[in-house]
Amino acid sequence: MTWQEELKENIRTIAQLKEYIDLSPEEERYLRKVMDIHPMSITHYYMSLIDRNDPDDPIIKMAVPSEDELNLIGDYDTSGERENTKMPGLQHKYLQTALVLVTNRCAMYCRHCFRKRLVGLPTEEILRRFNDAVNYIEKHEEINNVLITGGDPFVLSTEVIAEFLHELSTIPHLDFIRFGSRVPVTFPERILGDEELLSLLKSNTANSKRVYVVTQFNHPREITQESADAVDSLVCSDVIVSNQTVLLHGVNDNPETLAELQNKLVGIGVNPYYVFQCRPVKRVKSHFQVPLYKGYEVVEEAKKRLNGHSKRFRYIMSHQSGKIEIIGVMEGYIYFKYHQAKDYDNIGKFFKKKLNKTAGWLDELD
Ligand code: SF4
Repeated sequence: MTWQEELKENIRTIAQLKEYIDLSPEEERYLRKVMDIHPMSITHYYMSLIDRNDPDDPIIKMAVPSEDELNLIGDYDTSGERENTKMPGLQHKYLQTALVLVTNRCAMYCRHCFRKRLVGLPTEEILRRFNDAVNYIEKHEEINNVLITGGDPFVLSTEVIAEFLHELSTIPHLDFIRFGSRVPVTFPERILGDEELLSLLKSNTANSKRVYVVTQFNHPREITQESADAVDSLVCSDVIVSNQTVLLHGVNDNPETLAELQNKLVGIGVNPYYVFQCRPVKRVKSHFQVPLYKGYEVVEEAKKRLNGHSKRFRYIMSHQSGKIEIIGVMEGYIYFKYHQAKDYDNIGKFFKKKLNKTAGWLDELD
């Protein structure tokens, strides 16, 4: 079976789900309600990682819809993506980086996704606009790198990915190209089953622009022989692999799990890059977001268990105004620093807010 055929076999219906998880009639009812709004799609590989006997299984939490998704606290655009959109499918928020959203599809629809409002929509329009995005990047010499994201760009065919690389590689002021993809975690077969993709990435780095893959491992149980092999194939193709973990309640919000994850990632050749504060996204915030104060404590405790290399990540809130690092808590205040900022003058700015132990986002602090 090809990887495309495998994806078509994803678990998408309640009947398919019931082969793996027991559901009461009431649970079935609310699941249907949630899935009418945000569809379910789980790869067979990712489903094989669940522990059906564990009512608090972190893998189930990330993949299977829950009643909590009916909670509407939060917003759908928490990082100001709408206002940073320069044309359909292209965002330019930070001076040096352009984001090109090439598809709305993913191998799996993660329940904690902050682009929840986008997934499941048709992609043709965005694909048609890719060339417009390239024209924009060509005209903006301050852009030195592009993040190709979505959705998940690696669900597109290798021919389409080759086209992206070909177009972007002709732009002299780009130093490197990044792909944001959770495929190494949720669908490693995509990488392991496609020699053509691997040689494309390798030759692009050798002949033109260096390729990075930024992935998202959130729990040590996601590090399996298959995902480690997928990472290894990328590394052997001269791709640099980095990881952004999302801090998620009930998944990784304890120091032991977070430390084990970062240590194991370094062991398989992945560079810890960010630990992200979960955004206050509608249908996500109520059950996945960890308060900033607790998040800070978890991250600091985890760091005590990590060597210097494994703790190179920053604990970041990707706010409308910029990427804000959560630096510390002291004498009733929580301290922050702009790691990146929409307003250039704010980069590096250090500031404090009165501590509120239940606040989950900057705007909830005085
Ligand atoms: S792979 Fe990424 S974009 Fe797709 S659903 Fe998961 S978190 Fe969202």
